Amino acid sequence: MRQGLSADLIKRILGASPKWTIMQLEEKFPPRNLADGAMVTRFAPSPTGFMHIGGLYQMLINYKLANQSNGVFMLRIEDTDTKREVTGAVELILDTAVKFGLMPNEGVSETGNYGPYLQSQRKDIYHSVVAELLAGGAAYPCFLTSDEMEEIRENQKLAGLPTGIYGEWARNRNLGEEEIIKHLNNGEIPSIRLYSTGNPDQKIFCKDGARGSIAFPENNEDIVLIKSNDGLPTYHFAHLVDDHFMRTTNVIRGEEWLPSLPLHFQLFRMMGWAPPVYVHTSTLDKIDAETGKQRKLSKRHDPEASVANFLEYGWPTDAVLEYLLNIASSGYEEEKTKNPNTNLWNYPIKIKKIPMSGALFDMKKLEWWSREFIGAMSIDDLTGKIIGWAKEYSPEWKKIIHSHEDYLKSILSIERDNPKRIRKDFVTWKQTLEEVLYFFDELFISNTDFDFNKSALIAFISGFDISDGKDIWWNKIVEIANGLGLKNGDVAMNLRVAVTGRTNTPDLYSIMQVMGHDRVVNRLQKAIG
Ligand code: GLU
Repeated sequence: MRQGLSADLIKRILGASPKWTIMQLEEKFPPRNLADGAMVTRFAPSPTGFMHIGGLYQMLINYKLANQSNGVFMLRIEDTDTKREVTGAVELILDTAVKFGLMPNEGVSETGNYGPYLQSQRKDIYHSVVAELLAGGAAYPCFLTSDEMEEIRENQKLAGLPTGIYGEWARNRNLGEEEIIKHLNNGEIPSIRLYSTGNPDQKIFCKDGARGSIAFPENNEDIVLIKSNDGLPTYHFAHLVDDHFMRTTNVIRGEEWLPSLPLHFQLFRMMGWAPPVYVHTSTLDKIDAETGKQRKLSKRHDPEASVANFLEYGWPTDAVLEYLLNIASSGYEEEKTKNPNTNLWNYPIKIKKIPMSGALFDMKKLEWWSREFIGAMSIDDLTGKIIGWAKEYSPEWKKIIHSHEDYLKSILSIERDNPKRIRKDFVTWKQTLEEVLYFFDELFISNTDFDFNKSALIAFISGFDISDGKDIWWNKIVEIANGLGLKNGDVAMNLRVAVTGRTNTPDLYSIMQVMGHDRVVNRLQKAIG
């Protein structure tokens, strides 16, 4: 420890006296009154304006761990990097929570006793904590300029040493009050650094909920706690203060934070606070089409990295979550096949099962989840979801479906009456509409390549009665085939192509029933020409 600073000097450095003591903060944000085993988790994104599928994966894990243990799920916005902030980014995060049904119990849009949940509004809390560290000598003001730090870096590199502000390179770590005042009088604004007492020759054991205990060299870097440019905390300090005073029990975050774990244990230990249980989740990867190698999903190159894309294409949100759940807790698929009452919302995640590396996110696999999910939906649900999607994401479809909602429902009902043989050709809402597009006159394109047997079509029209049952309807086709010396299937194919423009469709009788007499006859006549 170094010599602590006086209250006056701390006030001058921070621009104001601390609003609270740590003791008062402990009272303001008391330990939560929850049953044993209840987990308090948080999803803590930075508002970058982009929701990565890996973020949704973390959100799901956090949501479920809290939910299944009757705990609390918080949404905290980590907006301390003001340079990276994008307008509308918080709304995007909230919108994702709403659309995927992962609503937080506490957070920016909710009430809660442990807020504010926007880090930029917590400055007083960070400053109150750092003031005590300054008073106790565990932190100090550092006036190094970026040029000086660059010079230090260069020298360290030349000497083959690890770069950073540590030991004798931390030139300001032992400044006395007078020297500090001189800098302040010069108009310099310091950052506040940790006075690290760690020794990298020694090991610190850090526990990760999924990985077990990991030994790291102790941290000796005097990392920045409060930045000089805006007085806001760094990630490390905000994590310490927020997760302590929000009483987080489980920190689920990306594996990119694993190297910072010894620092975080050091910080909690220094404060005398119990650290949370950490789980560092693996990145979501794909097999690169060109190299055949597994790599991280890239925000810039892979459309499947973007949650917005999934919503835009109309992937069922529950199917996306089911697949992510199966990645997070691999027994889900098996359990669901065995027990149809198992679902996304009642299947618990086990921390120990969360994969530590190499989690593959494969679009083909997602398609499977989606087909199964849509196959099991009720017709009302399915129709409602598709209409909802069109209203929000597709003005074209919205216009077409408008005032044809019952028609759409009948279209989607085709081949859905036998629960054992539900059609599995629907994958996304967009693709479902494209799949049934020929039902809509505005979109129907007659097949001009097909060589129609006009006599068969004429004969069919003359005997066509929409009220015929399927047997009578079929017998009429057989009669036409016999009369013209054709195969039954050929007549059916002529009708199919004339009515739908396609050679491959679901049950033709049902299609005609849904289309109704006039539409069928019109299309047949069009094919006859
Ligand atoms: N804002 C950090 C990130 O987006 C949060 C990490 C954490 O969950 O602690 O990576």
